[in-house]
Amino acid sequence: HAKEGGRNSFQFFNAEMNAQIVERVGFENGLRQALGRGEFILEYQPEIDVASGAMVGAEALIRWQHPQLGLLRPERFIGVAEECGLMLPIGDWVLRRACAQARLWHDAGHPLVVAVNLSAAQFMQKSLPASVADALRQSGLAAPLLELEITEAVLMRGGANVADMLAALRRLGVKLTIDDFGTGYSRLGQLRNYPIDKLKIDQSFLGAMRADPGEAAVVTTIIAMAKGLQLLVIAEGVETAEQLAFLRAQGCDQYQGFYASAAVLATELGKLLP
Ligand code: C2E
Ligand code: MG
Ligand code: MG
Ligand code: MG
Repeated sequence: HAKEGGRNSFQFFNAEMNAQIVERVGFENGLRQALGRGEFILEYQPEIDVASGAMVGAEALIRWQHPQLGLLRPERFIGVAEECGLMLPIGDWVLRRACAQARLWHDAGHPLVVAVNLSAAQFMQKSLPASVADALRQSGLAAPLLELEITEAVLMRGGANVADMLAALRRLGVKLTIDDFGTGYSRLGQLRNYPIDKLKIDQSFLGAMRADPGEAAVVTTIIAMAKGLQLLVIAEGVETAEQLAFLRAQGCDQYQGFYASAAVLATELGKLLP
C-alpha cells in the first residue's frame, strides 16, 4: 500500500497516480457522453477496383471530435470503449450511420458498397444479426451494399459460435470480409468452411514490401489463396504506384490506401465520384 512507503512516497503517489486516474476517468466520462453529444464522426476511405480504377466501395472509419483534445483516431479510444462496454452502442451507431450514407450514395446513382468494422463485442452479441437487419430496414439499403469487416483475430478467438454467427449474417444477404488478414495465424483449412466473400490483406505487408521481398511473397501467396477459394481480395495501405503495379500483376481485385485517397468526410468522397 502507498501509505507503507512513508509520507514522501504517499505524496508521490497522490501527485502522479491521481493525475493519471483523474485523466482516465475524465476520458471515460467523455466517451460515455460522446454519442449523446454527437461527437463521433465517420470518414470514408474509397475501395478501388484494380482493373478499372473505379471506386466500388468505401470503408467507414470512426473518429471522435473531442471537445478538448481535438479529432481522435480510433486507436486512442476504441480500447477504452471496449473496456467500458461502450462498443455496442458506438458500433450500432456506426452501422446505422454508414447504412444511411450508403443509401444516399445509392439514390444519387452511386451504388457503393459500404464496409463497416465490427468490434469483438459486437461479433459476440447474439442480437447482432437482428441489429444489422434493423439498420438495413431503417435505411432502406439493399443488403448486398453492406459489407461487414471482422478481423482475423476476432474470428480466431471466437470459438464454436463463429460459424453460426457468420451464417446468420450471410442469410441477411450482406457481404463478409476478413480484415487485417495475414496477421492472426488463421487456421487456413477453416477458411473454406466460413461463408465469407473477401479477404483484406493487412497494411503491414504492403508497408514492409519494399524493404523485404519476403513480404511481397506473403502478399502473392494470400492473393493466390483467395483466388483458389474464389474469394475477392483487397490490399489495404497502398501508398505508391509501384505497390499498385505489383498488385495488378498478381491479380489482386481491389485496393485501398493513401495512393487513391485517405479517409474523407462523405461530402468529400462525393466529389471523388464521377
Ligand atoms: P482498419 O479497419 O484496418 O482500417 C485501416 C486503417 O488504415 C485506417 O486507420 C486507415 O485510415 C489506415 N490507412 C488507410 N490507408 C492507409 C495507407 O495508405 N497507409 C497507412 N499507413 N495507413 C492507411 P484508422 O482510421 O485510424 O483506423 C484504425 C483502426 O480502427 C481500423 O483499422 C479499425 O480496426 C478500427 N476502427 C475504425 N473505425 C471503426 C469502427 O467503426 N468500429 C470498430 N470496431 N473499429 C473501427
Ligand atoms: Mg477495416
Ligand atoms: Mg484492415
Ligand atoms: Mg489494418
